[in-house]
Amino acid sequence: MSIKENLHHIKSQLPNHVTLVAVSKTKPVADLMEAYNAGQLVFGENYVQELVEKHEVLPKDIQWHFIGHLQSRKVKLIAPFVSLIHGVDSLKLLEEINKQATKNNRIIDCLLQVYIADEETKFGLNEQEINEIIASKEFKELNNIKIVGLMGMATFIDNKDQIKKEFQNLKTIFDNVSQLKTENCLLKTISMGMSGDYQLAIECGSTMVRIGSSIFGGR
Ligand SMILES: *Cc1c(COP(=O)(O)O)cnc(C)c1O
Repeated sequence: MSIKENLHHIKSQLPNHVTLVAVSKTKPVADLMEAYNAGQLVFGENYVQELVEKHEVLPKDIQWHFIGHLQSRKVKLIAPFVSLIHGVDSLKLLEEINKQATKNNRIIDCLLQVYIADEETKFGLNEQEINEIIASKEFKELNNIKIVGLMGMATFIDNKDQIKKEFQNLKTIFDNVSQLKTENCLLKTISMGMSGDYQLAIECGSTMVRIGSSIFGGR
């Protein structure tokens, strides 16, 4: 099927409250244009340099999400235009995003990454660490960022029961943490679910799915 057909097929399955992020990492600009021409405006990229290059040449009404692991020293490259940063996992990184957002006279929306997988290689915070960040004095002073939700990645396995447990765990943490409301923190988004598990993620409460290979083909 074409990119356009893949997109229509996936969108027809998504409830209205679920946002589709088309994950276009490693894919050529022509593929993104095909998705854009089929009506897709939200794209997710993992690598800063690639994101910057694609942003330069593609239409300006695209909303760019950064979904990879962001290094502090690279925040300044995406701060002028990024619309959502998914994988924030430290106060230090939030402080750098705030600093670069201030320079650009913007407020940058962020999701905190929660560690839900059973894998050493995945990044993320636990519930207690999230609570500590949001309750801290340093966090309250960050006027140019806004925490709008949580993001998580399940373990890369076929065991649906385990994946389901991990998604349910993220939803529980979301429900607990969303009680905490501050000027710069109002949780409404749960970013979970990829090509292989997005239906399950939606059943478990996802409001944002990040789908790459089912739209653009394998990488
Ligand atoms: C690559 C990637 C995706 C998309 O994965 P697919 O299996 O191709 O849908 C989603 N989220 C993150 C963080 C990724 O790195």
